[in-house]
Amino acid sequence: MLGVSVRAWVVLGAGIMVATLVRGDVARLDAETRLAAADAPTIVAPLDGSALGDYGVTLSLAGRGAMIPNQHTYCEIDPSVVDRFGIPVLRFSFRWAEHEVRQARHMESTFQEIIQKMGGTVLGLANPEREGEGISIGGTIIHELGTVRMGKDPKTSALNAYCQAHDAKNLFVADAAPFVSNPDKNPTLTITALAWRTAEYLAEELKKGNV
Ligand SMILES: Cc1cc2nc3c(=O)[nH]c(=O)nc-3n(C[C@H](O)[C@H](O)[C@H](O)COP(=O)(O)OP(=O)(O)OC[C@H]3O[C@@H](n4cnc5c(N)ncnc54)[C@H](O)[C@@H]3O)c2cc1C
Repeated sequence: MLGVSVRAWVVLGAGIMVATLVRGDVARLDAETRLAAADAPTIVAPLDGSALGDYGVTLSLAGRGAMIPNQHTYCEIDPSVVDRFGIPVLRFSFRWAEHEVRQARHMESTFQEIIQKMGGTVLGLANPEREGEGISIGGTIIHELGTVRMGKDPKTSALNAYCQAHDAKNLFVADAAPFVSNPDKNPTLTITALAWRTAEYLAEELKKGNV
C-alpha cells in the first residue's frame, strides 16, 4: 500500500472558517485558553481569542492508495541466508511502478487544492527528505500482502479460490498471502473472510474424503 501526506498552515484570524477536520481542535484550544484565562486573568486574558488568530493551526492530510502487482516486486528463497534452524529465509525485491507514483502525485495535488481553497498555506510533504516523489518507502504502511497469490491458472497462481494449493490438495494458506493485489483498505476483514471461506470448504472436502 502506498501513502502520501501534506502539511498545511491555516490562519483563523482572517475570518477563515476551517472545515470539520480541525473544528474539534479549535474548540479544544479555545476552551483551554479560556480555562487558563480564568486561572490567571491578568497574564493570559489578553491572549483570549487572539492566540489562534496570531498563530493559526497546522493540519496534515494523509492518503492511501492501491498497489498493482509488478514484475519487479516479488519474494524468493534466499540462496545464502538461513534462519537459526538452518532454514533458508525469504528474500524480497520491491519497486513502485508508474501507476503508484501517479496516484501519489494526484493525491498530493488534490490535497494542495483542498488546503488552498480553505485559505491555508501548503507547508510541504511531511517527510520530504525520506519520501522521494512524495510516495512512502515500500513497507512504511505495514500492510504487506500477497506472495502466494490465488487464481484459476496453476501456471500463474499458487492457490485456488479456496486458498488451496493447486499442487498439493492438503495444503491451505489462510492469511494475507493469497491476495493478488494490495487495495488501499485495511486488509484484516478480508483476510478473515477468506479464512472463513477456506475453513468451510476444507470441512466439506474432509467430509467427502478429498483431503
Ligand atoms: C503495527 C501494525 C498495525 C496494523 N494495523 C492494522 C489495522 O488496523 N487493520 C488492518 O486491517 N490491518 C492492520 N495491519 C496489517 C495486518 O496486521 C496484516 O496485514 C496481517 O497481520 C497480515 O496477516 P498474515 O497472517 O498474512 O501475516 P502475519 O500476521 O505477519 O503472520 C505471519 C506469521 O508467520 C510467522 N513466521 C514468519 N516467518 C516464519 C518462519 N520462517 N517459520 C514459521 N513462522 C514464521 C510470523 O511469526 C507470524 O506469526 C497492521 C500491521 C501492523 C504491523
